This record gives sequence, structure tokens and C-alpha cells, in this order.
Amino acid sequence: MKKRLAIIGNGMACGRLLDELFRRNAGLAFEVTVFGEESHGCYNRILLGRILTGGTAEEITTKPRGWYADRGVTFHSNTTVARLDPPTRTLFTTDGTAIPYDVAVIATGSAPFIPPLDNLTKPDGCPKEGAFVFRTVDDCQRIRAYARPASSAVVLGGGLLGLEAAKALSDLGIHVTIVHMPDWLMNLQVDRLGGEFVRKAVEKLGIFVRTGVAATGFIGTDKVEGVVLKTGEILPADLVVMAAGVRPRVAVAEASHIPVKRGIVVNDLLATASPGVFALGECAEHNGIVYGIVPPIWEQCEVLADVLTGANPTARYRGSKLYTKLKVAGVDVASMGAIEPKQDTDEVLQVLEERRGIYRKLIVRDGKLVGAILVGEGDTAAALARWFDRGDSLPANRLDLLCSGELSPASSDPEICNCHHVCQSTIVAAIETGHTTLPSLSSATQAGTGCGSCRGQLANLILKTAKSVA
Ligand SMILES: Cc1cc2nc3c(=O)[nH]c(=O)nc-3n(C[C@H](O)[C@H](O)[C@H](O)COP(=O)(O)OP(=O)(O)OC[C@H]3O[C@@H](n4cnc5c(N)ncnc54)[C@H](O)[C@@H]3O)c2cc1C
Repeated sequence: MKKRLAIIGNGMACGRLLDELFRRNAGLAFEVTVFGEESHGCYNRILLGRILTGGTAEEITTKPRGWYADRGVTFHSNTTVARLDPPTRTLFTTDGTAIPYDVAVIATGSAPFIPPLDNLTKPDGCPKEGAFVFRTVDDCQRIRAYARPASSAVVLGGGLLGLEAAKALSDLGIHVTIVHMPDWLMNLQVDRLGGEFVRKAVEKLGIFVRTGVAATGFIGTDKVEGVVLKTGEILPADLVVMAAGVRPRVAVAEASHIPVKRGIVVNDLLATASPGVFALGECAEHNGIVYGIVPPIWEQCEVLADVLTGANPTARYRGSKLYTKLKVAGVDVASMGAIEPKQDTDEVLQVLEERRGIYRKLIVRDGKLVGAILVGEGDTAAALARWFDRGDSLPANRLDLLCSGELSPASSDPEICNCHHVCQSTIVAAIETGHTTLPSLSSATQAGTGCGSCRGQLANLILKTAKSVA
């Protein structure tokens, strides 16, 4: 008899887990039910900026309703799970419905962090009109409906999400100011100098940037009219997007008496302390770490699918090496490992090309790459990531290599799409069999459907390969 597998949360981790499960024929062993609080099928959250600029939910949807039906997956949208009762293996939704399960996976992701701000809410306790967060399709549709051309916006937060929101609003012709409390933009991914390069690129888009200053509150009675800074200054604003970080959504685990620290605590099997209950994605904490980008989550999905289906019962998640490659507000940013030297003997190599807006930094320890930052170019990121990942000794002439961009450790088949681990040879083979447009190439290989930062490289490969075939 089939086991009942309940997945709570229909976000990016759920979508990827479903792919990995069905790749391992999970339909034979499980009756799968997905509970999603949002009304949509699974979508690529990374591409939310497109909704802000007028795109539709369908454009970024990776699993329309038919996808679930075709595979016999029961999909409950607009359904919030309140708690599990692990002893009886029963799941309760917020409307009180009780549903039995054999195995449950909690994949509830994160919620936007709302900083403590004076005057954030109306007298009735609801957020003021014009104050938004940036996490879901619905959030973006609300912002889009509210935003008027020639109006002004303040984005609180100059990290990945803040920059994405700022770029999209600026593309709508809105006057945008980013307010970021740390001293430089993207301070989690890049050092101060890298942050300056990001800032210049963002300012070139016409976006204003204020760093090293906190917002303390809003002005306006029923709707937002401006943001008050700690300096006492007021930035007039018709709308404010709060993108100052996220917090793991752990309410289901807490209500089910499943141990939580910052996230839901899981072991190397992605199992919680409660038998039959697993967790993964941004809500899970493994070895003290809660991951906030997709590459580690993809690794978790592979392991959990192996464990649940028995395809590889020895599969274990040992943690991920932090490697981020993003296209933020149109700027390529890659960051891996340390962003500053930590030991006296660490060597630092930096190459700045001010005019081209390119910044490269390597941190080398005992001849090995322990950290790297790239701003303004993404082509060498994959090769650097391999040096970083394998811990191979770097060649003596590494500065020459860094400058010429030929860093690949003898790889004749570089990985182009790091989100889906698709190598150049697979992409070229697909182009040669007729997938000569980006959408067709992406659907054949999955390349470019993650963070999208490799789409430029894919377009180049299409041009090159199509020419050489002709
Ligand atoms: C604008 C934006 C840009 C991003 N850009 C990048 C990028 O370039 N690169 C990158 O690697 N990452 C990026 N990220 C981060 C990436 O989107 C997340 O790491 C990823 O979505 C996490 O997947 P998840 O499934 O854990 O959480 P989510 O995708 O947030 O999914 C969780 C789902 O669970 C649902 N849920 C929560 N509680 C319940 C409940 N009780 N019952 C039912 N459903 C529930 C939520 O509604 C949500 O749909 C970006 C994120 C945003 C918002």
C-alpha cells in the first residue's frame, strides 16, 4: 500500500523536491498531497521582480495546476497548515480539517522581517496603505497596483531583495531611494569595496542610495507619506517596500512541539526530532545554519528524495559550501566563502577595473582558494567555484589567471547553470538538436530556470553553436 506523503508549503523547495521525487518514481510508493497557503501553483520566487514590472504569475509559474493533476498529486491551494499531531500522524489545517499522513515534509520558507518602525500601522493595527513587503506574487501585484508613474518610493534594505525591488520600481519610472543600515550594499555577500562597485552600478540606474543610516518610522496618517531617518531627516515617499531580511517560518513546527532554534532543527537526513517529520528549505536549520538561497536547498531536495524513496538510503546532507551567483538589479555578483582574510598568512588578490565596473577579489590560504568576490562580471564565477569547492592548490600565476579569466582547473566542460548543474556540453548538444531559442533551450535542459544569471552565457552559446553548425 502507498504511504501518504504530505508536503507543507508549496514554494521553491517543494517544487524542486517534487521534481526529485518523481525522477525517482515516487508515485509508485507515495500518495503525495501538497498544502500551499498561496493561491498559485509553484513559481520561481527569484523572478518576482518581473511581476512588479507588469509580468503575469503564469510567466514565472513552474508548476501549473495541471502539473499536479497529471502526476496524481493532490494540491490544496489557499490552505494553511496549523499544526501536526505526530503521535497520531494527523495534520490540521487552520480551518480545522484533520488529514492523516504517514510522512510529512515542512517546507514553509521564510517571512519578511518587519523592522521596528514608529507609525507603521493605522490606529486599527493594520499596516498603513503604501507599506509593502516583497515575498510573494500577491505582494508584487499589490505594489504594482499601488505604484503610480512619477511617484516616489523608499526601499528599506540594500541586500539582494531590496536591490531587486528598487530596480523593478525604478523601471516603472518611480523615484527610488534605498535606505540600508549597514555601511555598504549587499554587505552579506561582498566587502566594502565590492559594495561600492555595486552602489555605482545601482546609482547608474538612477536609484538613490543611503547607507549607514537606519529608518526609524513613517510619516502619514492613513497612508505612508514619508520615511523618518535616525538623523531626523524625512524622505518623502508614496510607497515603502520593506526588504530588510527574512525570518524562517517555524509556526507549524512550534505548534507541533517539534524543536526549533532559529529554524526547524534537522539532522543529516533532513529529519526533525519527530519521527516521520522532515523539514527543508529556508525554514530548516542544519548544523546551526539556515540557508537563504536556492543552491543549498536544491542539495537538500536531492538528499531528501533519496532518503524518502530509498533510491540511496545512505544519502546524507552534510551542509553546503556557501556559493552565491546572482544577477542583482542587472549587476552580476558572485561570492563564495570568506569575504575578508581571517589569518595573518591569508593572501588577498584584488583587481579593480573602475571604468568597466568590475571588481575581483580572491582570498588564498595555504595556496588554496578560501573566498572570492566578483562584481560586474560572472563569467569566471563557475571556474572559481570549482577551485573553491575542490580545495585544489591554485597555480603559482594565479593573478595572471584571474586577470585573463582563465581559471578553470582543467575543465573542458564548464558548468554553465550552477542552479541546475548543467554543463556546456549538454547545452551545446541541445542547441545542435534544434533548441535554438532561450525558452526552448531552458525547457530542454532546465538551464537558466533558476536564478537566471546564466541566461547571457546561454544566449552566447546559442549564437556561437548555431554559427558553427551553419
Ligand atoms: C524577490 C526575491 C529574489 C530572490 N532572488 C534569489 C536569487 O537570485 N538567488 C537565490 O538563490 N535565491 C533568491 N531568493 C531566495 C529564494 O527565493 C528562496 O531561497 C527560496 O524561495 C526558498 O524556498 P522555500 O521553499 O524554502 O521557501 P518559499 O519559496 O518561501 O516557499 C514557502 C511556501 O510555504 C508557504 N507556507 C508557509 N507557511 C505555510 C503553512 N503553514 N501552510 C501552508 N503553506 C505555507 C508559503 O506561503 C510559501 O509559498 C530570492 C527571494 C526573493 C523573495
